[in-house]
Amino acid sequence: MIDRTTKDKILAATRIEEVVGDFIALKRRGANWWGICPFHQDKRPSLAVSPSKGIFKCFACGESGNAVSFVMKHEHLTYAEALKYLAKKYHIEVVEKEETPEEIASRLKHESLLVVSEFAQKYFQDVLWNDEQGRAIGLSYFHERKFTDETIRKFGLGYTPTRPHTLVKDATAKGYKEEYLVDAGLCIRREDGSVVDKFYDRVMFPIYSISGRVIAFGGRTLKSDKSVAKYVNTAGTEIYNKSESLYGIFQAKNAIIKADKCILVEGYADVISMHQQGIQNVVASSGTSLTIGQIRLIKRFTSNITIIYDGDAAGIKAAVRGTDLVLEEGLNVRIVVLPPEDDPDTFAQARSTTEILEYLAENERDFISFKSDLAETDMAADPLSRSKLINDIIGSIAVVPDAILRKEYVEMVAERFRQSDADILAKITAIRDEKKRQTQLRERSLEAQLPPAVSQETSAAEDFGLEPVSESYVQPEPVETNPYVITNPLLAVQEKELTDYLLRFGSYPLHFEKDMLYGAAPAERIDVESYIREALRDDDIIFANRLYRELFDEYYAFAATLPQEMEIRERQEAIARHFANLENQTLLRESLNLAFDDQELTVKVYRDTLEPEEQRLGDMVPKSMILYKLRITEQHCSDLSAQINAAQRDGDDATLRDLVQRLSLLNKVKLQFSKELKRL
Ligand SMILES: [Zn+2]
Repeated sequence: MIDRTTKDKILAATRIEEVVGDFIALKRRGANWWGICPFHQDKRPSLAVSPSKGIFKCFACGESGNAVSFVMKHEHLTYAEALKYLAKKYHIEVVEKEETPEEIASRLKHESLLVVSEFAQKYFQDVLWNDEQGRAIGLSYFHERKFTDETIRKFGLGYTPTRPHTLVKDATAKGYKEEYLVDAGLCIRREDGSVVDKFYDRVMFPIYSISGRVIAFGGRTLKSDKSVAKYVNTAGTEIYNKSESLYGIFQAKNAIIKADKCILVEGYADVISMHQQGIQNVVASSGTSLTIGQIRLIKRFTSNITIIYDGDAAGIKAAVRGTDLVLEEGLNVRIVVLPPEDDPDTFAQARSTTEILEYLAENERDFISFKSDLAETDMAADPLSRSKLINDIIGSIAVVPDAILRKEYVEMVAERFRQSDADILAKITAIRDEKKRQTQLRERSLEAQLPPAVSQETSAAEDFGLEPVSESYVQPEPVETNPYVITNPLLAVQEKELTDYLLRFGSYPLHFEKDMLYGAAPAERIDVESYIREALRDDDIIFANRLYRELFDEYYAFAATLPQEMEIRERQEAIARHFANLENQTLLRESLNLAFDDQELTVKVYRDTLEPEEQRLGDMVPKSMILYKLRITEQHCSDLSAQINAAQRDGDDATLRDLVQRLSLLNKVKLQFSKELKRL
């Protein structure tokens, strides 16, 4: 843990233009520096760095953040790791809490396992290239598969010979401990205590961590003997968790970011062949069906997954299962079916890069048309199986966490099956409600079983007997789906705009004149932050979307800590600095997007006037506020209308009268707001 003082010291020393300048070339233009954005494919300098605000923003892909976020994103580090990186750059000493002897031992063991795995990779590679058996069997096999020497080296491929040459002999002669060879999954200890190789007479595919360290191996036999397992893979070890690793992720990660898409194939050879053909954003879930841990690993680089599978029945089944998991994690999933005679390996080898890309582009399909087509070829168009299919697809949509995306899918299904949106939505709501109820029940019964307050003291991982997380892994995404998803898009527009005024002009008097900038706001005049707070308080309004609610709370909490007598300009800068250094990356990103002043305002007319924005606050902020209240009222009205319909159906006259009365009152309020808007 880095303590608060050190963190502040690091942030104070950091110059964003120097940090970004270490990775990309920057040129000064006006107040900002500009460079080519490393987070998307580009030839023009779209990335702006503002030294005064301490932030960067790409105007093409929208990526933005402060110096810490840049390092996190570019180097794939956690927040704490990025801070340590900056501390090193600016020669600031980071004092961390002291390690216990157990922690030191575990860290050392961990490192030893990585070192011994790397040795094994070198050993297998050396045998492949330099040993007679290795060249005759291993290398010629790879050449047969059309792998070039460059590719073979890039993926660190190797060969393990038949005895008596063994890894264990070579490794122990060089001083590596048998114990570590066993714990890294490379060797097996027999009952008599002797240690033997786990892999022999196989071509070897090393599996790399995200940061490029060897953590495991897959070994493929070249024998056609059915009694020999085709693949032998490292089982779980302290440095390798199969369900959280992906084959090829190290070689693919930058290409995934650039393409903003991850292609998922089945086997090692598929990844390598595609890679060799220039399609480098490819990984494989090697030997397991896709897991949530693997999807979350991908999610750190992109939210788009394309699953390629060969059209046999087992492949289809796996693809269907994988699809729902991906959807549930909030990612976009597309599916490509290969021509029946191909697997990804043969497919890639027989085509040029352009042909592959064209085929993928033409054959990528969303999960709805994928499932629909699948069913249509499978069964006759009898109504029973048709409704079963629709229900299946609806079930898939119901797991999608993002409400807006769900709505898009609903529209697609409605169109394809000529059903009403409302019917489908109702089914989805029912499924989601039921699921929520089940989860709550499960949680409650779990809580009842737990002894009070266990996991507070020891680490959660230890409680569940999980393996410690390697340094070479980055922290996985939090378990919940994004809590900042916009749940009320209609109100979000207005909430965003009000937050924008708050962050950029909170200290300004609502009726501002230029000469005020260098003095405190005159006491008799209301400033923007007080106006917004009071206008909301008058009607007991709390922002509906969590993102803006938290920014709002953060603003007032911080503003309360500022001294009373402060120049407007100075105060505004302190607020900007505070928001540019938020640790919460979601809040940070949103606040920086606002700070860069590039958003569409709903009150557009004023954009055309030459009068500076701060002198129009007195018109714009109240207008934005009334528009917000109008939207809230409109939502109340439509809720009431729905209730009125229900009451009419049920023939509940008393309720109906009451509801109609309330609706007419609200309609009056609505009219009032509309009039006020016109007047302003
Ligand atoms: Zn960009």
